[in-house]
Amino acid sequence: MTTRAPKGTIDVLPPESAAWRRLLRAFDSLAERYGYGLALTPLFEATELFARGVGEETEIVSKQMYSFTDKAGRALTLRPEATASVVRAYLQEGRTGVLKCAYSGPMFRYEQPQAGRRRQFYQVGVEYLGEPSPDADVEVVEVGYRLLEELGIRGVMVLLNSLGDPEDRVEYRQLLRAYLAERADLLSEDSRRRLDTNPLRVLDSKADVAVVAEAPATLDHLGPEAAAHFAAVRLGLERRGIPYEIAPRLVRGLDYYNRTVFEYQARSYTAAQDALGGGGRYDPLAELLGGPPIPGVGLAMGVDRIVAAMPEEGGEGSLGVFVVLADPGRRAEALDLVAMLRAAGVSADLDLGERSVKAQFKVAGRRGAAVAAVVGAEWAEGRVTVRAMADGEEETVPIAEVAAWAQAR
Ligand code: AMP
Repeated sequence: MTTRAPKGTIDVLPPESAAWRRLLRAFDSLAERYGYGLALTPLFEATELFARGVGEETEIVSKQMYSFTDKAGRALTLRPEATASVVRAYLQEGRTGVLKCAYSGPMFRYEQPQAGRRRQFYQVGVEYLGEPSPDADVEVVEVGYRLLEELGIRGVMVLLNSLGDPEDRVEYRQLLRAYLAERADLLSEDSRRRLDTNPLRVLDSKADVAVVAEAPATLDHLGPEAAAHFAAVRLGLERRGIPYEIAPRLVRGLDYYNRTVFEYQARSYTAAQDALGGGGRYDPLAELLGGPPIPGVGLAMGVDRIVAAMPEEGGEGSLGVFVVLADPGRRAEALDLVAMLRAAGVSADLDLGERSVKAQFKVAGRRGAAVAAVVGAEWAEGRVTVRAMADGEEETVPIAEVAAWAQAR
């Protein structure tokens, strides 16, 4: 084997992928319960979508895009995130009013790979379009929080900030630029350049943490409407029982946000202080993409990181019944039993090799089967011996009752 997966990508196979499946299912059901339909958008988009939407001066657009030219000379980019695509689709379809949708899938960023940072990574997320109310912000924050809660991740904290509205930022940007300019010799080269083009981006520069720590905060420069919106978001989170901390330096690395921004951190996931997910309100985005003003708020959760933070499952329960063939002459019947169980909604499998009964039981154990059902001499009387793998409880039951016996374990 000489060809390996590209740097910064991973393969996820069973049984480790069981945690991914659990997460994706939990997200799917949560999104449905909160009224988010499914959105499917392309994995690649016109490069200009991200340049205009995410912002030219962001790390993502300036350094991390997987961009290429297709055979017809189109400038395309593998999506580094999905919000710009969802808003583009809303505009392109000529939608109006509220659209609530959920997505999941791979994103691509040319990053320096390290723990929790990959070049292809997975996100699940929701977008709440067409709704300016702070209650939409609260709901979106709640979806991410409940997901982590349902997956058994303890000690989750929401970090919350408000960036204000673009008009509030005119004055703030001047203050920030003046503050940073006085300390220009302490700043990294990238940040010195951004001083003029986009000083807000200096706030999420990992190389300038010390200077940024004392910088003026957007929260102290909110206009009356943004301040009222922020107060309502806080009140809503309190009412839903969602713990949050105000994080005045939180700006997040994308240009399209206004007002609310947030991230989730967990005690069980502390690698480089990175977040499990985050999001915010992006009312300016639709206009940046050339559309009418459409308010929106959304969130993206990092699946790779959440899986790393999830408590281990006890290993059991991945298979309901493993059918063990004790009489090689009854292979067809064993296949019938598996088919019958599957049709009854019980996950079932068997070993298609010609292994000994002992070896088949070993496979059943490895596969995490809750129950083994032995097809042997009793089949002639219409019966099967079933065994609970956890405690060895054993019984001979009619074939038609195997499914119910397994479901009761
Ligand atoms: P963002 O789209 O930058 O707001 O990121 C949202 C979430 O996606 C983050 O909180 C991470 O959990 C995850 N994420 C972002 N970039 C990466 C990456 N390179 N590798 C793994 N997860 C990532």
